[in-house]
Amino acid sequence: MTLLAEMTRDELAARMAERPIAILPIGATEQHGHHLPLGTDSFLAEEYARRIGDRVDGIVLPTVPFGYSWVWKDTPGTVTVGHRTLEAYLGDVVESAERSGFGMLVIADGHESNVTTMKYVVRDHAARSSFPVLRLFYPKLSEILAEHLESETWHGMIHACEFETSLLLDARPDLVDMAKAVREYPPFSEEYAYGAEQLGNVSESGVFGDPTLATAAKGRAMFDALVEESVRIIQKARAR
Ligand SMILES: [Zn+2]
Repeated sequence: MTLLAEMTRDELAARMAERPIAILPIGATEQHGHHLPLGTDSFLAEEYARRIGDRVDGIVLPTVPFGYSWVWKDTPGTVTVGHRTLEAYLGDVVESAERSGFGMLVIADGHESNVTTMKYVVRDHAARSSFPVLRLFYPKLSEILAEHLESETWHGMIHACEFETSLLLDARPDLVDMAKAVREYPPFSEEYAYGAEQLGNVSESGVFGDPTLATAAKGRAMFDALVEESVRIIQKARAR
């Protein structure tokens, strides 16, 4: 794994004959309860990208720190970008990766609300170009959660929960304060599900689920499974 930002143009040129895989981490900047930092999704995306990069000898691009975080837009510290802005931005990154001469771009996402925009970017790009682009947001997540977690998700959402907290305990334990982790399963919000309610008005702590059960060992096991499945998908696409 190599970090693009730390390479010189000559080092990059020496790699380009092999048409290496570029990996773009994208996260978010938004509250994650009292025990996790606002950059949780970005730190996780970066670690996810680097671990994939280690396996496929990839070149990891700088992390996109902002995503579509509308649901936390009025909670201090959130930096959200609109979905059209994000779509245009990611589209330009894809085109840059293609022009640079990479063999493939893998978008490694750590924030579920970016998923729909990523899908549109990849589909629109495929209509114009044969440059392969994959969009990965924790593949086989529900199976992995079922195997490794002791707690239930809040209606399928992962946010500051046992999953994200375990992953960050493995990736960046220095940024997790387990003494401040609280369990919260707020009542289901129809205004959120079917209307335009923000999550800042749904959960008091900002947590959805039970991070008190998180451990670094679970985080490592889940990261390993996520990376394994991601590498399988990339290698299959690469062989096409
Ligand atoms: Zn998150």
